[in-house]
Amino acid sequence: MGDVRHERTLIFIKPDGVQRGLVGEVLRRFERAGLKVVGLKMVHAKPDFLEKHYPNNEDFLRTLGGKTQEAFAAAGLDVKQQTGSDDPLTIGRAVRGWLIDYVSSSPVVAFVLDGIQAVGTARKIVGDTLPFRAAPGTIRGDFSIDSPTVANLQRRPVRNMIHASGTVDEAEFEIKMWFRPEELFAYRRVDETLIQGE
Ligand code: ATP
Ligand code: MG
Repeated sequence: MGDVRHERTLIFIKPDGVQRGLVGEVLRRFERAGLKVVGLKMVHAKPDFLEKHYPNNEDFLRTLGGKTQEAFAAAGLDVKQQTGSDDPLTIGRAVRGWLIDYVSSSPVVAFVLDGIQAVGTARKIVGDTLPFRAAPGTIRGDFSIDSPTVANLQRRPVRNMIHASGTVDEAEFEIKMWFRPEELFAYRRVDETLIQGE
């Protein structure tokens, strides 16, 4: 500890991952990479709780809407004609609503991972937000093929199996939201020194 690269990150397996029986498969991928599970639980999240997790700020909404724009452009489709809007903020607002409805519809499995550059490493293992773009070998690339061009027309979020904190600040905020201090544990993995030194 004390190493600036030593981080914690918040992951949850979304309803599609839990309902497909992929909890063990997903955990295995993080564990074998050397990330240590320091908290773990099943949660049926309420919409109010997810309203905090997915912030109602313009930056976040624009990012969501921007992903729709990119995917429609990549497919050569006119986003306005297909979805009724070409404003990233308007699209982002709709996506956020579908996302909160979806994630609160069924239990998720949440956990905290600890290790060297845990935030970035976990994102690398998870892969691109949009499964049709996620590389093979990543969780999203191996287990999903969804895209906003299909999802948005069906008025639902992209089913990409998993959430992983995007930044160290996001991780800190999310870990406090999802886990009480007494639900997080300190222990040594037997391979810890081999994986990340003293
Ligand atoms: P997460 O936060 O879930 O790990 P991410 O950081 O890769 O994913 P965000 O931009 O934070 O992506 O989007 C949050 C979630 O919203 C995505 O995981 C995905 O399920 C859904 N989503 C994002 N963009 C779109 C979109 N354009 N259309 C439908 N769903 C989307
Ligand atoms: Mg995110």
